[in-house]
Parts: sequence; structure tokens; C-alpha cells
Amino acid sequence: MIRVTIYNEYVHEREDEAIREVYPEGIHMTLKQQLEDEEITVRTVTLDDLPDGLSDEVLAETDVLIWWGHIRHREVPDEVAQRVQQAVLKGMGAIFLHSAHHSKPFRLLMGTSCNLTWREDGDSELVWVINPAHPIAQGIGRFIKLEHEEAYGEPFTVPEPDELVFIGTYDGGEVFRSGCCYRKENGRVFYFQPGHESYRTYHHPDVIRVLKNAIHWANPIYRVPELVCPHVKKPLED
Ligand code: ZN
Repeated sequence: MIRVTIYNEYVHEREDEAIREVYPEGIHMTLKQQLEDEEITVRTVTLDDLPDGLSDEVLAETDVLIWWGHIRHREVPDEVAQRVQQAVLKGMGAIFLHSAHHSKPFRLLMGTSCNLTWREDGDSELVWVINPAHPIAQGIGRFIKLEHEEAYGEPFTVPEPDELVFIGTYDGGEVFRSGCCYRKENGRVFYFQPGHESYRTYHHPDVIRVLKNAIHWANPIYRVPELVCPHVKKPLED
């Protein structure tokens, strides 16, 4: 089984009735219900559960961490962000969704501001598959059509992705690198742009398919218990 942990700050769904209608038990539960299958098991953590909810022990038992956050990024303790970063470097997979571009662990992993332009007018989005041979794009046609999504636009100030899987286009003309893959030491990181809290994005079967594909892609094949820089005292040959 692939052990997935979903972190959702879980604020909008509790404070805003219109958003609660879209995600009655929270984005994390909507995702859990659709992602769990014979190969994937999911545990969920919210902001209220931090810092213990993402302890070193929890992360050690997590193969792939999924992160959704928006208005309470700053309340995530720095120690949690550092733990997540270290866990990824050791080999854990991580998937950052939508406004998690500004989350502490994502910024730490990227090493840049991770800024972008944003506009919320209910535009539709086409999420174009630009690398149909990539594992994360399997089962998706030429594009995913989302009736409504927040328009994110370039420049997206992240490092050049190691692999780019999707580019999003919007009614207003913006383009955005919507599916970016990174390798960070032993771990794999995927950023996926769709998922504004007031739209039904995480009910779309193709979006769930992308996330399942990404879980399999990010599932570690190699993990180390510690990051070490050993002194090799003797040469290989005398
Ligand atoms: Zn948003």
C-alpha cells in the first residue's frame, strides 16, 4: 500500500457556507474518499493538529504527502515546514496543490518566492497535457476542461521544473505551468495548480486521476533514515 497523508488547513470550509457546500467535510475528506483504493491508503491532518500531526514519526510513515493551504500558511510552525523539507530530501514524495505554492514547505523546497499572478473571475480553464508520455498524464486526453477555476498566470517564480506535464490556459488569456515535477535529493515533488476552494475541481474525475498518477510517481523507491556527509578515511585502493 502507498501511505498518503493529506494536510489541509481546513479553514474556508468551516467559515464560509458557500465553500462548505462544495466540500462539506473539507477538501481533505473529499480527496481521501476518492483517492483511497486497493493501492492507496490516506490519513488526514489539519492545521489544528499541528505540530504533532506532522511529527517526524508521521512523516516517516508517509510515502506521499499532499498539501492544501491558503490563508493560514503563516500559522504552520517553521519546524513543521523544515521537517517536511527534510523528509522530502530523504525520499518522501510531496504533492502541493493550488495555493500551496505559497506554503512554507513548498517555498523551502523551491528556494524562491513562488509568486504568480492571480485573478478570480470564474473563468474556465483548459489544463493541457504537454507531455503525454509522462506517468502523471496517463489516462488523460489532450486536456482537462474545468468549468470554473481561479486564473493563475505567469511568471511563476519557481525554479525551472525538471519535467513539465501540464500548461493551463484561461478565458482571460493567461497561461500557467500547471503541472511541474521536481527531484529534490532523494524525493519527488509535484506541483498541481487546479483546486481553488470555491470550485468543484476536486470532484472532477480527471483531476483525481492526475492526483492518483502523481501519488504513484512520487511514491519513494529509495529512502534514507538520515542525511549524512561521511568522511571516507581510506582510499578504495592502497
Ligand atoms: Zn485559490
